[in-house]
Amino acid sequence: MQGRNFLFVPGPTNIPDRVLRAMHVAMEDHRSSKFPELTMSLFEDLKKVFKTEKGKVFIFPSSGTGGWEAALTNTLNPGDKLVMSRFGQFSHLWIDMAERLGFDVHVFECEWGEGAPPEKIEEVLRADKEHKIKGVCVVHNETATGVTSDIAAVRRAMDNAKHPAMLYVDGVSSLASIDFRMDEWRVDLAISGSQKGLMLPAGLGIVCASPKAIEASANGKFPRCYFDFADMIKANNTGYFPYTPSLPLLYGMREALNVLFEEGLDNVFARHHRLAEGVRAAVKAWGLKLCAKEPKWYSDTVTAILVPEGINGAHVIDVAFRRYNLALGAGLSKVAGKLFRIGHLGDLNELMLLGAIGGAEMAMADVGIDVKLGSGVGAAADYYRKSDPIPKRKVSRQEVIYASHSTGTLSS
Ligand code: PLP
Repeated sequence: MQGRNFLFVPGPTNIPDRVLRAMHVAMEDHRSSKFPELTMSLFEDLKKVFKTEKGKVFIFPSSGTGGWEAALTNTLNPGDKLVMSRFGQFSHLWIDMAERLGFDVHVFECEWGEGAPPEKIEEVLRADKEHKIKGVCVVHNETATGVTSDIAAVRRAMDNAKHPAMLYVDGVSSLASIDFRMDEWRVDLAISGSQKGLMLPAGLGIVCASPKAIEASANGKFPRCYFDFADMIKANNTGYFPYTPSLPLLYGMREALNVLFEEGLDNVFARHHRLAEGVRAAVKAWGLKLCAKEPKWYSDTVTAILVPEGINGAHVIDVAFRRYNLALGAGLSKVAGKLFRIGHLGDLNELMLLGAIGGAEMAMADVGIDVKLGSGVGAAADYYRKSDPIPKRKVSRQEVIYASHSTGTLSS
């Protein structure tokens, strides 16, 4: 199909051209005396993205799933007790991993469309007088349902219960798109991947560990090898890796971080919020509902849209892909067929999203959903026009001359 594919799954996300170019590199010696210049700058700058001064960043050749495993196996002992909440496919998969690794998991079953329940977490921690619970694990942004949990509230719940368990947070689809405050929330293990807000291909599992987590890893008895923090720390301290790193991904990460810092993290978060609000305005205009049950759960990186009874969401996605070259996210497991998702994270702007909203609108009409063509695009466009965050500025003399040339009104 001609033209660009419109990639609107919630990861992998669009990669900026300059990041693609930065990854187009010849191979080099990863043990050279120059190589640490690159790696050290990545460790330092990733800390800024996690908003931590005290945390230690690990970059594993892996993905978010490997980051989960690294976090759990390094810092816990076999059979340790964990508290986790299931409210979507990714929180489910993390629970599944913890159980398969033999941890004793206390699971809160939540509605898919809600987030982690701080009150219940506090209750179970208060009841744990002997401090048998070693970790509370929360998925910050549940990509399957478009729900963002309140990590600050979970931390408050832990503090209220005066419980020493460590806080494990999955920031796979929030980091570098939704504000993440590792130090302020006193997150012990933050986990992410390269293919979402960091605008890179999949291939890196990124973990940030607090000093308390590093101490736990030094004493943890859980068997691990490839993901061992200790091996990484030893090599990383001098700017190297205990194995052969992926050079293109690391060079790409350098450029992706430059892109993020040039925009400024706060502007990145504000842009994601604005883009998400436009999508939500479109959904309202279509007369459809979000999977996220209440505004407090709305995600700024992915919107999961429920399709009407009798319609299969997978059908919308397939028509969008085959007919309009638009990739939308599918409903996963429990919500398969019930919804489709628009991912709005990474390297995106308003017009790109209007294209995706337009494509979704056409695909929905094609499969028999009663939506008025143009209604969602119009609502989003209206929102984007009226909420333009660019401060009004004086037009320069040069711009006036340029505009006059192009409209033919300048006589000289
Ligand atoms: N956690 C969340 C919230 C995710 O969205 C994903 C993947 O989309 C994962 C974990 C798993 O990450 P990966 O596919 O990079 O292993």
